[in-house]
Amino acid sequence: MKNRISFTATLLFIILLTVNSRSYGQPKKVTDEEVKRIHDKAITVDTHCDTPMNMVRGNFDIGKKQSSGKVDLVKMKEGGLDAMFFAAFVGQKPRTTENYQEAYQTVHQMIDTIYSQVERNRQLASIALTAEDASIISKQGKRAVYIGIENGFALAKDIRRVEEFYNKGARYITLSHSYHNDICDSSTDRAKPEHNGLSAFGRDVVGEMNRLGMIVDVSHISDQSYFDVIKESKAPVIASHSSVRALANNDRNMTDDMIRALAKNGGVIQICLLSDYVKDPDTTTIRYKKDQEMRAIYNEKWSSMNEDQKAEFRKQWTEIREKYPRALANVSDLVNHIDHVVKLVGIDYVGIGSDFDGGGGLSGCNDVSEFPNITREMLRRGYSEEDILKVWGGNFFRVFRQVEEYAATAHN
Ligand SMILES: [Zn+2]
Repeated sequence: MKNRISFTATLLFIILLTVNSRSYGQPKKVTDEEVKRIHDKAITVDTHCDTPMNMVRGNFDIGKKQSSGKVDLVKMKEGGLDAMFFAAFVGQKPRTTENYQEAYQTVHQMIDTIYSQVERNRQLASIALTAEDASIISKQGKRAVYIGIENGFALAKDIRRVEEFYNKGARYITLSHSYHNDICDSSTDRAKPEHNGLSAFGRDVVGEMNRLGMIVDVSHISDQSYFDVIKESKAPVIASHSSVRALANNDRNMTDDMIRALAKNGGVIQICLLSDYVKDPDTTTIRYKKDQEMRAIYNEKWSSMNEDQKAEFRKQWTEIREKYPRALANVSDLVNHIDHVVKLVGIDYVGIGSDFDGGGGLSGCNDVSEFPNITREMLRRGYSEEDILKVWGGNFFRVFRQVEEYAATAHN
């Protein structure tokens, strides 16, 4: 009897240890070989970078290692990154006829530039259009280049343009950016809500994206817009670059309720590597105050600046950031976000979306070449190989395939 009790106690102890090993166990010793083996085995995808903004500035070759940029084909290879979503981004401007036209054209221009960069480096990369393409292209020893559109403002309120951009290769649209648009309210617009969530046009856009097999991206949109999208979308959705609000109190991040609804929808939150979204910033530093001043100028004046003024503004901001460096959040802080989602809803609903070249960058993971450090930290915390493969791409590509399947079976 005594034996049986101690056996049961031991078993219970083992079970408890296993259940808790991810966060409460002693960190595991991890070898470089193990990190490399698992990282290489994964089909890795980063669902958001703003590198096309650098591409259109000219003199940019994605096949050459960039000194300041965080994403290029060389660094992707070094970091074992198989696939990247390059965002054709337009900032939100007042909705005038000219600005609509400009946004629409800018996105076309950015997508054209992505194609020409890949064409110039066709030994190193290929354009990817389907969920399957990442593995196919990776097997050829190349990088897969996916295209996303950041800000539905680029549709210029014309529903036919969803299909036009789909035909041009875009596979997700981030419905809004920092301000409300015709589709929905934004999470960061300080004006009062315009639609109280998703507009009638926004519902049409979601329906059209579902019909075509385009992924709906809920990053940047307001909480109410988000819940409307979840109700409206017939296929799972993604947050291409958002983190957990319970850990960093920023409106761009998702609340626990939003994450629970996402899991129910079958979607995925791709944790963003932007330091302020990973860890609340220290608001007492000079750097923070200067940064806030520059951000205020950006919000107020950026859209009316000419190219010279924009260049000067960028230069000033870079100088300030160099003069007052700050402690960035680190890889451990980032993996806390993955842990949080896993504890809340399980391993199947979380991935990585860096926002590199759009503000993303952490201590220990400041460009794509340092991605293996995330794998190392997950291994240290006891994540299994299967778990890590899911986070690096398994989860996202599951969603992508479901979006494709819905479009293939929907009565179009
Ligand atoms: Zn963004």
